[in-house]
Amino acid sequence: MHAVTPGVLVHGGAGRIAAERHDEVQAGVRAAAAAGAAVLAAGGAALDAVQAAVRVLEDDPAFNAGTGAVLNRDGLVEVDASIMDGATGRVGAVAAVPDLAEAIAVARAVLDDGAHVLLAGPAVWDFAAARGFVRAAPGALVTPRMRARWQDERQRLEALERDGGTVGAVAIDARGQLAAATSTGGTLGKLPGRIGDSPLPGCGTWASRVGAASATGDGEAIIRVTLTRALVDRIARGAAIAAAADEAIAELVAHGGSGGVIAVDAHGRFAAVHATETMPVALAQLDGDAIRVAAAVRAADLALA
Ligand code: ASP
Repeated sequence: MHAVTPGVLVHGGAGRIAAERHDEVQAGVRAAAAAGAAVLAAGGAALDAVQAAVRVLEDDPAFNAGTGAVLNRDGLVEVDASIMDGATGRVGAVAAVPDLAEAIAVARAVLDDGAHVLLAGPAVWDFAAARGFVRAAPGALVTPRMRARWQDERQRLEALERDGGTVGAVAIDARGQLAAATSTGGTLGKLPGRIGDSPLPGCGTWASRVGAASATGDGEAIIRVTLTRALVDRIARGAAIAAAADEAIAELVAHGGSGGVIAVDAHGRFAAVHATETMPVALAQLDGDAIRVAAAVRAADLALA
């Protein structure tokens, strides 16, 4: 196989982020991409790189995953996440799990366990606790910003703009293997038990030997168009990655949805497309012994290799 440049591309959710938060979210995705690239620099696998990148953003209160996740109708955090290894097709996911700070790590544990693909609901805590994960205290993941947004929603004081904040990563490692991961609190005010696209293979997350993708946006619409699987299938049929991503988002919009996607192909080419005003992105690539990182609040402002 020809040599590829290992790298990781991260997104911080399709939406509309107020200008005063741009620096904060850009710093967040930059740190996440750098963490993923550090795994690759140490010879690690794409699968470990996307997990490391997403994990950083789960702990960053500026993003809608882990700490800082949106609240559901009842004011509670229920998270969704999935992670997929393109080389083997193995995938692990968790959905609608309350008080879980590190959903991507538990999704990875589901992948490694191998018996199932997707575990959902409070019962996931039996699986997670047996593997050493500790449930966050009720309310511990709730940030003042999200509490305020939830109260606004409840009182219907204003029409809320979705500011996004779901997180995801795609990566290619030195062996040319691909992986994708996505983690989210879902949508503000969602019904308890609602599961979005993020934990569903082929919808929010997909990885194969030819491509890997992570989506964000209107979860119900993303599920209807199986967005990430459709994107990677386009690459498999010979489309260039940028065209595949453009067409996947165009199909989402044609189905009345909005959102964005990031992707990587087996040649190490990346794409990021969104139909929303913002989608913070950061690309970190190995450059000899150094790691080059670039970040932007809009994908069009990032030069993708
Ligand atoms: N796609 C996520 C969901 O519907 C939300 C988002 O990406 O903003 O759960």
